[in-house]
Amino acid sequence: AVQDFDKVVDSVCPFCGVGCQTKVAVKDNRIVQVDGRDGYANENRLCVKGRFGFDYAMSPERLTKPLIRRDDAPKAGDIDMRDVDPLTVFREATWEEALERAAGGLTSIMAAHGGQALAGFGSAKGSNEEAYLFQKLIRQGFGTNNIDHCTRLCHASSVAALMEGVGSGAVSAPFNDAMKAECIIVIGARPTTNHPVAATYFKQAAKLGKQLIVMDPRGQDLMRHATHSLKFKPGTDVAMLNALIHVIIEEQLYDEQYIQANVAGFEALKEKVKDFSPEAMADICRVPAETLRDVARTYAKAERSIIFWGMGISQHTHGTDNSRCLIALALITGQIGRPGTGLHPLRGQNNVQGASDAGLIPMYYPDYKSVENPDIRGTYENFWGQTLDPKTGLTVVEIIDAIHDDVIKGMYVMGENPAMSDPDQAHARGALARLEHLVVQDIFLTETAWHADVVLPASVHAEKLGTFTNTNRQVQIGRPALDLPGEARQDLDIIIDLAHRIGLDWNYGHVSEVYTEMAAVMPSLKHISWERVEREESVIYPADGPDQPGNEIIFSTSFPTADGRGRIVPADLLPPDEVPDEDYPLVLTTGRLLEHWHTGAMTRRAGVLDAIEPQGIASMNPREIGRRGLHQGEMIAIETRRGTVEAILRADREVADGMVFMPFCFNESPANMLTNPMLDPFGKIPEFKYCAARIVAP
Ligand code: SF4
Repeated sequence: AVQDFDKVVDSVCPFCGVGCQTKVAVKDNRIVQVDGRDGYANENRLCVKGRFGFDYAMSPERLTKPLIRRDDAPKAGDIDMRDVDPLTVFREATWEEALERAAGGLTSIMAAHGGQALAGFGSAKGSNEEAYLFQKLIRQGFGTNNIDHCTRLCHASSVAALMEGVGSGAVSAPFNDAMKAECIIVIGARPTTNHPVAATYFKQAAKLGKQLIVMDPRGQDLMRHATHSLKFKPGTDVAMLNALIHVIIEEQLYDEQYIQANVAGFEALKEKVKDFSPEAMADICRVPAETLRDVARTYAKAERSIIFWGMGISQHTHGTDNSRCLIALALITGQIGRPGTGLHPLRGQNNVQGASDAGLIPMYYPDYKSVENPDIRGTYENFWGQTLDPKTGLTVVEIIDAIHDDVIKGMYVMGENPAMSDPDQAHARGALARLEHLVVQDIFLTETAWHADVVLPASVHAEKLGTFTNTNRQVQIGRPALDLPGEARQDLDIIIDLAHRIGLDWNYGHVSEVYTEMAAVMPSLKHISWERVEREESVIYPADGPDQPGNEIIFSTSFPTADGRGRIVPADLLPPDEVPDEDYPLVLTTGRLLEHWHTGAMTRRAGVLDAIEPQGIASMNPREIGRRGLHQGEMIAIETRRGTVEAILRADREVADGMVFMPFCFNESPANMLTNPMLDPFGKIPEFKYCAARIVAP
């Protein structure tokens, strides 16, 4: 361990939604060590990303000067960015010129076509204050609700179901409550990979004798600790979950009293699941009927049961239906609103909860207040002194489609990388290249920034002061440990400067002023002042008073719905949008690796992490590899109806026969070239977890 630090700064991890509290040790303006703090979410623990993934912040690839695309530069789609000197495509510019160019391009489009021709992607890695100001700029400055971020690609369907079912998109209990539960269900999530510190609580709980039920079409590490492991057929979540509900109803394991007092829609659910007996569903979901009955009884009979889920549930064209089933399970058994019970979609990015809360979504102002409600809109119009767009805006994939349709002509993208994260990437990249004007604010020349007309060099997490909200609803303070490199600027300052240049009369002297304005319009942050977050480091919302601790458990007396009741919406069994056939006989599913975070923009520039996982891979079961005459380590080509991508073949017993798994972080093997952009009708989330594929000669 390095001993002679210049300083040690208390902050939070920049990667996943667990939001581990950290101590960042700095020497000569370089991070030299990161340790865990004794925070509520992590109790001194960190995973490999949090502990060793920090050097991306000091990468020589950091953007340090504003860039403007050269007039004679080729379109991004016509070049391979890995082979090109950026300065042949862009020229360095002063901030004055770059911001004038950025604002000028956006205002010209507004003048010619109206604000509806513009859109913005904000960031779930930025702070709450940045998210709040970014959505304010798009709504107040552009006059449109075409504002979204990567929640649309991760838990949008979960949030749609939760808003409909329990009136709030946030978790009902923290993940630490696994320790208080008797039964823990983890479905469609791989916490040891994607939320590793949260996974330590699940493993600990299992060691203490709790029932741990892990349901995942792929095998996973957590199954070694599980009492029940269900490797169900991909895409059959509703069949399996409705079978559990069927058993609970048939065997009268539901909580009649709780339903009478708190739940609407039980009769319709009863009717719907009549035909979903475990015996009828066993062949469909490939789980024995007796196992389904055992799981249903275990969950319903336990004094305290809690459900965690991830993108295996949400990233489907029936993602909202999948979540509706989980909500129904909790509501009919009364397994919600008490310690050790509840519903917890494990949130992805470190601030995806906060960015969504702050209104970085097209249908809601901060705190999920509908943009289509005239009273609420009137409040914001008075507050911001501006007539606002009365219609729900376009979502991430809809914005990409609207560019191809010549409806959207200009974009402001901050800290998002749609050229890697969006489905059907040829389509998404084609849209970015087609824009009349694209402004990208980021820390690296990402795959998206390569398409930009103006690139604005921004700040990493370790350079900024702000609040971040983790998956537990903990509002936490992140503090600056490093000076900004070169001419890079704080994201908040860039947003404010751009706002001034498109004519907004904003006046913020300090980030705390933005927080205070945001908290004033967000009931969830009542009693949680900036000073309190600074003082306490981490406060769970909602809190009942300035001196009261935040409520870890919500919905203990009622739900924040119109009538105070939870609402069951029964789900039908629908097939995935694109099922395997003779031409494309395999199922392609995508996800993450432990060492790399989302599109890899940060972790592929982190030395230790990239050394462990340095190249694009595709994983298949060794049996499947053998059957096809393939060999581990060879280059294969994976093809879908949208494209072909080459990757190194990895043998992985966790991948089921007939499946291929690809992480989406490798730009040399971009999995999202292959994925299906078809959307869930409610959450508008694409079907990343399932499409038809085949292996062809590379
Ligand atoms: Fe960071 Fe998440 Fe790992 Fe914690 S679990 S150290 S928040 S990546």
